Amino acid sequence: MNIHEYQAKQIFAKYGVPTPRGIIANTPKEAVKAAQELGGSIWVVKAQIHAGGRGLGGGVKLARSTAEVGELAREILGMTLVTHQTGPEGKLVQKVYIEEGADIKDELYLGVVLDRAKEMPVIMASTEGGMAIEDVAHNTPEKIIKVAIDPAIGFQGFHGRELVFGLGITDKAQQAKFISFASKLYKVYMENDAEMIEINPLIKTGSGDFLALDGKMGFDDSALYRHSDIEEMRDISEEDPDEREADRYGLSYIALDGEIGCMVNGAGLAMGTMDTINYMGGTPANFLDVGGKANAETVAKGFEIILKNPNVKAIFVNIFGGIVRCDRIANGILEATKMVDVHVPVIVRLDGTNAEEAAVILANANIANVISATDLADGALKAVKAARGEA
Ligand code: GDP
Ligand code: MN
Repeated sequence: MNIHEYQAKQIFAKYGVPTPRGIIANTPKEAVKAAQELGGSIWVVKAQIHAGGRGLGGGVKLARSTAEVGELAREILGMTLVTHQTGPEGKLVQKVYIEEGADIKDELYLGVVLDRAKEMPVIMASTEGGMAIEDVAHNTPEKIIKVAIDPAIGFQGFHGRELVFGLGITDKAQQAKFISFASKLYKVYMENDAEMIEINPLIKTGSGDFLALDGKMGFDDSALYRHSDIEEMRDISEEDPDEREADRYGLSYIALDGEIGCMVNGAGLAMGTMDTINYMGGTPANFLDVGGKANAETVAKGFEIILKNPNVKAIFVNIFGGIVRCDRIANGILEATKMVDVHVPVIVRLDGTNAEEAAVILANANIANVISATDLADGALKAVKAARGEA
């Protein structure tokens, strides 16, 4: 799960990670009031969407009077902001964050991510702040400093020194400030079960202080149950409604743009199934993992969600029974055909635990649209043909 910039900054502030002062606004009127409350003579109006690249897309603007804050808020609120991270359809802006203008002397980058190969969180820092870190990583990878932190020992002095020496920060007072900033950020990451934190840019101000000018945070969904305060920050309007619905039934669903709906158990089998469909000349319409707790209701729900997509021309059910038993899935398919109008061919390959029972259930039910397959390749080929109307 991701949160908005202003919410990430609220968390930063709680841990003493310095951020500019700011107030969230839903209307131009609230924006003007926010600017008055903040005081000063320069403000930044920032679109709050779950995507970066807002600056280039016109979602971050400087204002030199409270009236201008109102004008910019009117312009940005309600706009569909297109950035390199939103996709071409863009994202509707429903909130703006009004911040006191910062005196930018230098722009850095600081992030914390999980390095799966090292099995440790890694702090990434760069002097090349303010631009896409992907580009920096591609063009000048030597300008990204990576410091892995063993969670058993936590953030230590030597980690901090590696960072400041790597960034070329030589002034003692500034080294201390930066190390304190990074160690607090590491604490934010660990204590909130974050998956990633990105501050781009982290700025050095004219007075030599470090400030998080931007803030992005993503969390491990499996750990959200122990962070109700973060769960409350969820913005449903930023999420795919079908993916949300699937989540409520314990299904992992990701919409894609092909024409063969897939219902699979296990992420690995899902990948294999999608690859095989591609290999046979078709394209998957989604990724749906029914997981190990699949029952008739969740399978029916899965069908319902897959069939909402008008591009779906066939559904390929590819289940390997282990914890989930094939007869349950077969019954689920029968239930589903009663509960939802399954108007496309359904190719079914059930193997593993109770596969024979499942085959009997499906054969006896004799449903017009259901085609059985012997293995993955056979199923994928039948699905591709069915989607082309060749079944
Ligand atoms: P992003 O484009 O979505 O990553 O949004 P950012 O929060 O990084 O803002 C984009 C850019 O706006 C930054 O890289 C800064 O150059 C600029 N910006 C943001 N806040 C301020 C500010 O307080 N003062 C000035 N001068 N520029 C700012
Ligand atoms: Mn940024």
